[in-house]
Amino acid sequence: MIWIKEYLHILQCPSCGGDLELKEYPKRNILNVDNIIDNSNNNEYKLLCKKCNKTYDIVEEIPILLKK
Ligand SMILES: [Zn+2]
Repeated sequence: MIWIKEYLHILQCPSCGGDLELKEYPKRNILNVDNIIDNSNNNEYKLLCKKCNKTYDIVEEIPILLKK
């Protein structure tokens, strides 16, 4: 499990200060030759603000908490 889960309680939405929730999205099924090598079934994670419903990407396990 990714470390962000442990720190969710101290992270907050940069736009409204609301609580963030970790959401798991199934990885898109791209039928591309380059992706056949990547046969891990890792899902994509995003942070969702419970208050304003903005989503924040997580890149290489680092949440990108920037105002949009
Ligand atoms: Zn928010």
